[in-house]
Amino acid sequence: MTSHRPAAVKRGLRDGSWSVATGLRRALPDTAMSPVLSVLLAAALQFTNLAHPEQCPEVVPRAQWGARPPTARQDMPTPVPFVVIHHTYQPGFCATSPDCERAMRTMQDMHQFNNKWNDIGYNFVVGGDGKVYEGRGWGTVGAHAPNYNSRSIGISFIGDYTSNVPTPAMLEAGRRLIQCGVARGQIAPDYQLIGHRQVRETDCPGDAFFALIQNWPHWSPLRDIVPRT
Ligand SMILES: [Zn+2]
Repeated sequence: MTSHRPAAVKRGLRDGSWSVATGLRRALPDTAMSPVLSVLLAAALQFTNLAHPEQCPEVVPRAQWGARPPTARQDMPTPVPFVVIHHTYQPGFCATSPDCERAMRTMQDMHQFNNKWNDIGYNFVVGGDGKVYEGRGWGTVGAHAPNYNSRSIGISFIGDYTSNVPTPAMLEAGRRLIQCGVARGQIAPDYQLIGHRQVRETDCPGDAFFALIQNWPHWSPLRDIVPRT
């Protein structure tokens, strides 16, 4: 017996990103639980697992996908009040990690060489392998949505989502990334989530995906569209 709270419970209490119940489940051996406590915990877990992410998703670092260094970077004030959702359109959907890593390199080539940007435009990219790829990362100004680059995290999903939506694994990875950003103080708890087309004359993130994100928590109907010149 110890007078201290189990570390897992302390962690849950401190960052609020996952529940005390989760901490208890990890900290207590099953034999220590009465049947009543078990039932209560099961109910609590069912609720909290729906309401809270467990932890941050694994992020594939730049070195792993073969990124070049940025030619320049700019710090972004955090937490940011916006999350901007994109699809890549091209490159198309990637099913395997080698294909997704190649897609990341292709995007960085396009953005650095054709667009003359400092780096790949997005802060993060979600692949069809269900993994989150590090673009510019947290706390760095992106190049993905005019007027919002210095106050948002831009998350792009690899593929064309005009007529269908990203896979459940991709959607879950994106959801966990956003929750992670909030838990880490990178994204404001009352953030507004928007599709690229709400701030730029573009079809991005595709009709099907745009319809879906309008049902996501924090979606905002704001319209602040910069036309193409
Ligand atoms: Zn976009």
